Amino acid sequence: MSETTFKAMIVEEAEPKKFTRRIGERKISDLPDGDLLIRVHYSSLNFKDALSATGNKAVTRKFPHTPGIDAAGEVVECSCGRYQPGDQVLVTGYDLGMETDGGFGQYIRIPCDWAVKLPDGLSLRESMIIGTAGFTAGLCVWKLEQAGVQPDAGDILVTGASGGVGSIAVSILARLGYRVVAVTGKTAAADFLKTLGAAEVIGREAVLEGAERPMMKERWAGVVDVAGGDLLAGAIKATRYGGAVTCCGLVGSPDLNINVFPFILRGVSLLGVDSVQCPAEPRLAVWEKLAGLWKPEHLEETASECGLEELEEKIQAILKGQIRGRTLVNMK
Ligand code: NDP
Repeated sequence: MSETTFKAMIVEEAEPKKFTRRIGERKISDLPDGDLLIRVHYSSLNFKDALSATGNKAVTRKFPHTPGIDAAGEVVECSCGRYQPGDQVLVTGYDLGMETDGGFGQYIRIPCDWAVKLPDGLSLRESMIIGTAGFTAGLCVWKLEQAGVQPDAGDILVTGASGGVGSIAVSILARLGYRVVAVTGKTAAADFLKTLGAAEVIGREAVLEGAERPMMKERWAGVVDVAGGDLLAGAIKATRYGGAVTCCGLVGSPDLNINVFPFILRGVSLLGVDSVQCPAEPRLAVWEKLAGLWKPEHLEETASECGLEELEEKIQAILKGQIRGRTLVNMK
């Protein structure tokens, strides 16, 4: 088995700070140590994968490397006794696709603790349309619920709505009966976002109207933000009394220039969301919800599928913020 070869994306540092990507062959014996060997059927493309694939050292420092922070497939070997060959599992986060070779290879080897048994109600394919982005969207909704933001509380703002996290967040929130206001930089995405359940679609500038003031008119009962920067600051300043804002991304900027007034005068909560080291209990709870009551109604409509060979084009597109919905990578 250890000499079995398989197809994978291989990122190499040809010369310092110059990275190349190719689809090549690797051997199972090349994979890192771990107690669980998985034959990957599907992966998905996330923003972080594009950073790893283009040599961003904040994500991956060691090359050659196979990116892919998401993977779903069948267990081939398990030395911890928790899984049987043929069991279906999914993996998101931890070190997968960062320093550990990831889902853009047909096999991965990982510690057992990173795997989640595929919940009833989800196929391997569906689990990877959701992937890290959708799981993160689920964590954001879970945190809003825990903060007491109920569907009748008022409008929920979702930024980066046409992207991976945003589109799944719109779908889940709409399914749960929230009124979703989707923010997008793509006018052409309005119909897509309405199909997913957005009640209103607005441009980024609409979130920033009046943002030069310390606080703005109260508009949002809750916020799912992937942008950071000015959009997040504007969203916080316009969050209603007692509302909550989840922060998970930085596509706009990692900076946050804000004062304390929304927190001390309106009791607004800013809730950080991390999908990578998320502990097992909430991880399993959110995946169960994503397979059941929260399962997005239009999952297939949010996805476009590609193989390893088409991944390069998609990597360039996600870096430019041009991807709509989720990109499923077929590894079969
Ligand atoms: P995508 O590229 O799929 O989507 C991001 C979307 O953000 C774009 O499609 C675009 O949507 C919008 N956008 C792009 N540039 C800007 C900008 N300059 N200002 C405002 N909006 C912009 O990425 P993902 O959805 O996969 O990830 C989103 C963010 O969340 C990333 O920063 C990622 O690293 C982070 N993330 C964090 C996780 C965590 O655990 N904390 C896990 C997963 C992702 P539109 O055109 O509709 O505005």
